[in-house]
Amino acid sequence: MLIIGGRRADALVVEAGDTPLFVYDLATIAAQVRRFRAAFPAIGLHYAVKANTYRELLDFIARKVDGLDVASAGEMEQAIAASTAPSHISFAGPGKRDDELAAAIRAGVTLNLESEGEAERALAIGRDAAVAPRLAVRVNPDFEIKGSGMRMGGGAKPFGVDAARVPELVRHLIASGAEWRGFHIFAGSQALDAEALIEAQHATVALAASLAEAVGTAPPLVNLGGGFGIPYFHGERSLDVERVGAALAETLAGRAAILRDSGFAIELGRWLVAESGVYLTRIVDRKVSHGRTFLVTDGGMHHQLAASGNFGQVVRRNYPVAIANRFGAEPDEEVSIVGCLCTPLDRLGDDIMTPRAEVGDLVAVFLAGAYGLSASPQAFLGHPRALEMAVGGAN
Ligand SMILES: *Cc1c(COP(=O)(O)O)cnc(C)c1O
Repeated sequence: MLIIGGRRADALVVEAGDTPLFVYDLATIAAQVRRFRAAFPAIGLHYAVKANTYRELLDFIARKVDGLDVASAGEMEQAIAASTAPSHISFAGPGKRDDELAAAIRAGVTLNLESEGEAERALAIGRDAAVAPRLAVRVNPDFEIKGSGMRMGGGAKPFGVDAARVPELVRHLIASGAEWRGFHIFAGSQALDAEALIEAQHATVALAASLAEAVGTAPPLVNLGGGFGIPYFHGERSLDVERVGAALAETLAGRAAILRDSGFAIELGRWLVAESGVYLTRIVDRKVSHGRTFLVTDGGMHHQLAASGNFGQVVRRNYPVAIANRFGAEPDEEVSIVGCLCTPLDRLGDDIMTPRAEVGDLVAVFLAGAYGLSASPQAFLGHPRALEMAVGGAN
């Protein structure tokens, strides 16, 4: 039997009451936070809430990090409910409505501005409410992190203000009486190559310095983005965060004088939470078609879109999966594991070797802690919502 956070998978399903079920092992998250703190002792750690907003997980992580990054008023409410001080919350994302800007400004949340138009609306709302809005500027850098090395020339993006126009905007914010909080520079996601991240962070610090010099004022905070990846697929290697941390310390030791008193932060979603999650779903049918065996489960892409290969993958590859109640048994047949949605897109494992599994067995899909339920179309086809539970929260 698969054990999650010291508990049997079948017992967890009994306790939750049904499948499909997401189980999050909070001890795994605590270990990631400790690893980050050891590797980046002088850098603030923010959690990008959109990776997983399950209440107990969010409450747990909010107590361990220095800030929460949200991308909607709904996430902002969840962050505040997790008793994070609004001054430790930042709100990024394109298309913020006036009511979202107003709610953030009233609460004292920092807005990471995505455009000059949004800046004007935020300043006007601040004037009407007679509060100085806390504003940072998200920069669209001229580079991005790529899987192996950085691609220069980021180009046209819906996110952030093009670097060349940032100094003028920041001077305008300061002149208009806003509380300028600094820069937010996010260059990419899901990087496993330490060298690519080191290069991107080096370029990010240099960009922050040149922008600050052009403004003539030091930024209180430079949010360096994140982008730390998780190995999902066979043959991928995990990111050497200790090497990235050592290189960033060196970069910061040599930073321009204008950034001397600035704080620095890294914002992470998947790296903090992906490995904590297991999605448990039950086999409801076992069938053979043209010689191929299908295990049909009561879960699927409506809960775990990423594992079905339809969230950010170009060529579908299998997430790690196992038969939870035959965890130690030798694999002896090739099967495809599919979900219960009536679409060929709903696949959880293609042509994988498993021990012979029967109706009633539990399938575990690993790496389900990030962009699982928070990024899946639960309403599609009207199946029941997934259950969620957390274990291992003592530390
Ligand atoms: C989504 C997002 C993140 C988190 O990305 P991960 O790949 O989950 O670490 C961080 N910053 C911003 C601005 C984002 O939009």
